[in-house]
Amino acid sequence: MRKTVIAGNWKMYKTNKEAVEVLTQLKDLTKDVSTVDIVIGAPFTCLSDAVKAVKGSNVKIAAENVYPKEEGAYTGEVSPKMLKDIGVEYVILGHSERREYFGETDEFINQKVKAVLEYGMTPIFCIGEKLEDRESGKTLDVNTRQIKGGLAGLSQEEAKKVIVAYEPVWAIGTGKTATPEMAQETHKEIRNVLAEMFGKDVAEEITIQYGGSMKPENAKDLLSQADIDGGLVGGASLKADSFFEIIKAGK
Ligand code: PEP
Repeated sequence: MRKTVIAGNWKMYKTNKEAVEVLTQLKDLTKDVSTVDIVIGAPFTCLSDAVKAVKGSNVKIAAENVYPKEEGAYTGEVSPKMLKDIGVEYVILGHSERREYFGETDEFINQKVKAVLEYGMTPIFCIGEKLEDRESGKTLDVNTRQIKGGLAGLSQEEAKKVIVAYEPVWAIGTGKTATPEMAQETHKEIRNVLAEMFGKDVAEEITIQYGGSMKPENAKDLLSQADIDGGLVGGASLKADSFFEIIKAGK
C-alpha cells in the first residue's frame, strides 16, 4: 500500500520566526491526521528550529537541497550528515528551479539521491517537462530521461524509499494545473518507467506526488486519481490553513 505524502516547498520564503509560527499552527491543525504523511521543505536557515517546532507531531521537515559529500572544502554547501544531525528526514532534490537556475544535471541529482539515502533520509526526487516539451510531444521522453538518470544505480530496496514528485514545469507557480486526467496519464507512464527499472512490485510501492499549482480547490480531484499519491505544494503551503485544506483532501 502506497503512502500518501503531502509535502510543502517553501522555496526561498520565510524567516526563522515566520517558519516557526506557521509550523506551530500546522502542528496544531494536523494533530488528528494519521493517514497522510506531512512534510514541510524549509530554507536551510530555518531547519534546526523547524525540527524543534514540530517535534512529537505528524509534521516532518525537509531540506530543499544538499551537496552530495559528507564534508570537505565546498564553501557554502550543506552535507547530508549535517541535515541528518539536526533531525531533517526528507530532502527535495532536482527541483526544476535548481535544474534551470543552477544547472543541475541528472547525473549530479543522482549523486544527491544516493547521498540522501545513504544517510537514511527520504529523497523527494522532482522531475517534469517544460511547456515546449509537452507541446512537441516529448513529455514521456523528458520524464524518462530524468528518471533513468536521477535514479540510476539504485537497488530495489533503495528505490522503494524514494518519493517521486512529478511537476510539469509549466504548472509551477503559474496557476495553471494539469487536469487530473492529464496528470494521471503521466503518473501512469512514470510508474511504467519505474517498473522497467525496478520491477512492477517495486514501482507499485513508490509514492508519486503531483506538483504544480496544487491548491485547496483542485487537490481533491488530483489526489483521487489512481496513480497520484500525494502532492508537492509551493505557494499554497506557505499558510497553515490552506496547506491543511490540501492535507484534508489527501485523507
Ligand atoms: C513547487 O514549488 O514545487 C510547486 C509545485 O509550486 P506551486 O505549487 O506554487 O506551483
